[in-house]
Amino acid sequence: MNAAEMTAESAPELLPVRNPITGETLAELPIMTPDEVRAAAERARAAQPEWEALGVKGRVKVLRRFSELMWTGRDRISEIIRSETGKAVGSAWSEVAVLDNMIHYYSLKAPKVLRPQKRKVTVPFAQRAKVIYKPYGVAGFLTPWNYPLQNGLVDAIAALFAGNAVLLKPSEIAPLSVIAAVDLMRQAGIPQNVAQVLTGDGRTGAAMIDVVDYISLTGSTATGRKVALRAAERMIPYSLELGGKDPAVVLEDADLDVAASWCLVGAFENAGQVCVSTERLYVVDEVYEPFIAKLQEWAQKMTVSAENGFHVHMGSLTNTRELARAEAHLADALQRGAKVIAGGERRPDLGPLFFEPTVLVDVTPDMAIMQEETFGPMLPILRVKDADEAIRQANDSPYGLSACIFTKNIRRGEKLAEGVESGDVTINHPMFVFGTPDLPMGGWKDSGIGRRNGPEGLLRFVKPHAILSDNMLLTGPSLTQTDEKTRGFYTLERRLRKVLPWV
Ligand code: NAD
Repeated sequence: MNAAEMTAESAPELLPVRNPITGETLAELPIMTPDEVRAAAERARAAQPEWEALGVKGRVKVLRRFSELMWTGRDRISEIIRSETGKAVGSAWSEVAVLDNMIHYYSLKAPKVLRPQKRKVTVPFAQRAKVIYKPYGVAGFLTPWNYPLQNGLVDAIAALFAGNAVLLKPSEIAPLSVIAAVDLMRQAGIPQNVAQVLTGDGRTGAAMIDVVDYISLTGSTATGRKVALRAAERMIPYSLELGGKDPAVVLEDADLDVAASWCLVGAFENAGQVCVSTERLYVVDEVYEPFIAKLQEWAQKMTVSAENGFHVHMGSLTNTRELARAEAHLADALQRGAKVIAGGERRPDLGPLFFEPTVLVDVTPDMAIMQEETFGPMLPILRVKDADEAIRQANDSPYGLSACIFTKNIRRGEKLAEGVESGDVTINHPMFVFGTPDLPMGGWKDSGIGRRNGPEGLLRFVKPHAILSDNMLLTGPSLTQTDEKTRGFYTLERRLRKVLPWV
């Protein structure tokens, strides 16, 4: 059944949300039909002008209140995130912190970025020009389950700062964190129809693309292509934050303890179910042996557990699908000659979807584990001759989301970073671009289109509206654009630019 075939009569279909560790059913939520989605969009469209009329400073006040409520309730929210994903509490806590930090950033930045901008005119004294920014109206958000709160809201909050109403279609696997957060938004004073949650699966999501003025997806590259096609048919703007196969590079001058421990964080944060997780590691020959020894030493210190405590480094996977894919990549690699040097086994004693953080050596670039997004706890390592070979291999991928280089020589790292084909590169600290809201984040190649965060992440949710006024100092009645006066003026201006280049 596709979105168009879903009718109100078939609506009572329910979506069970389960705890991946205990199997407990946490909620059963309706799969919203296209009619319900359309009705929600109409309510949003009617409510949006009042939200826009608050002005950016008014919206900042409300969104700040929301972040205060979220921060005060962070333990409860972390628990909701954990219950629907099975992740470690540290990962859940970081979701709240990342959003809180991003709201703080836009509270300071949005009034500056969104205020009318004066622009340079071609005819000085006679004209003035400005750009004002208008929200699109109703923006829709299709979001994944891996960081259900953070990825569920990070883009929508920017759209709210910009004055849009938002429709949120969280993942069918983990929708409860967004529902809880939207309750807090209401308490903070965001009008009910300005932020609405639409529960459902891909069909509900597809129906949403048909009724919004802007569509944002954080999800897989396969879904991204479908969303882009439908958005193109409707001629609405879109942004796509998609999958990745992020490389990390350890150079001969790296701090090996920093590199080894942070490669483990990069690979095994949220059991590897991170768009920007380290999925391929290139280590230069000169330090390969000592680095591997350090990595094994640090891997032994990792705690994998279902317990609720900040001492836990890795929790459960969230879906059988991810477990199956990770195991298939592992089996393929082992069959083709790779060797496991840490982990490698399921941990049914901890829960049905636990798998050990697994490090592999003797992999080859053509293996599935080095080519396709694994989205699970696997870290394959390839030995390379030098930095040049590392960067060449890192760039040999259809994806281009993030990358990390480990070196003590920051200047050299930054120079090499310029040659890496990805939306961002970090030196010595994988994944931290997301924790730095002034930096735009997004993918090159199959990893996406558009940017979140930074001024770019706000400006994507507004329509630039250019206004030019002519005081008629030089403009009289005319039937042509290029009358004698205009031609004379332009020729003079052009000559003037030889001596006054800024004119
Ligand atoms: P997914 O593509 O299966 O689903 C994402 C969202 O899209 C869900 O809400 C889903 O219901 C909806 N959807 C699915 N099909 C749809 C359709 N045809 N039309 C409209 N909506 C549809 O992704 P997922 O499994 O939830 O998440 C994992 C993927 O997300 C991974 O590939 C990961 O790399 C990527 N991801 C990317 C980022 C990023 O910032 N680049 C962040 C997190 C996850």
